[in-house]
Amino acid sequence: MTIELQVPSAAIDTFIETLHSSPPPLARIDFIEQTPSSADVGFNTFSIIDSQVLPGEHANVAISADKSVCQDCLDEINDPNNRHYHYPFTNCTNCGPRYTIINALPYDRCNTAMAKFDMCPECAASYTDPLNRRYHAQPVSCPQCGTQLQLSILSPAFNAFTEDDLLNQNNLLEQTAKLIKQGAIIAIKGLGGFHLVCDATNDDAISRLRQRKQRPAKPLAIMIKDLNQARLCVTANQTEWDYTKQC
Ligand SMILES: [Zn+2]
Ligand SMILES: [Zn+2]
Repeated sequence: MTIELQVPSAAIDTFIETLHSSPPPLARIDFIEQTPSSADVGFNTFSIIDSQVLPGEHANVAISADKSVCQDCLDEINDPNNRHYHYPFTNCTNCGPRYTIINALPYDRCNTAMAKFDMCPECAASYTDPLNRRYHAQPVSCPQCGTQLQLSILSPAFNAFTEDDLLNQNNLLEQTAKLIKQGAIIAIKGLGGFHLVCDATNDDAISRLRQRKQRPAKPLAIMIKDLNQARLCVTANQTEWDYTKQC
């Protein structure tokens, strides 16, 4: 990444010290190389310009891994007054997909799976505001302009839904939870592929899953909400419990 500064030299030292001491949450600084600029180009604002790859050159940039949701985004998802309320694809510069949405480098929105989603005015305003934590976040989206949930029911045994039920974004997660409680097996499409989910306490659902996966005996992973719930299902010594806190 190239950063061009137009400030007194003492301010450059302060800038580099600050960059080292409090970098953005996902930043990784391998090394910093300084080169004096020959011309005063007259900057009067802060901006991130589109990546430039000259003809015949290859984009030589690191690709970030996908990042789990940050606390700020979680707070927005749980806030009924926020425009991201209950929106499962909420993300920002500090979290969200990276690797799995890239089609080509450099990592700009036009080179990602988000290229076909035009940002709504509010998302566009966040994306272009240097003081917003969604500034230049390529996967930025909201319920108005981004990916939507979709529920498809293949088994007639579980198809008690109206068309409205299946279109209502606010209800789909709740409906899916109900289906799991009723013994359905759900294939949830996520960033890394499909995640097969069913009720681990439902013998019938587990035996159908084992049959379909052709895995008659090998243990299956279970999802646990937190350590308190884990303590109800498994035994472990103190060293093992302590290790889980580091994960
Ligand atoms: Zn976030
Ligand atoms: Zn939007």
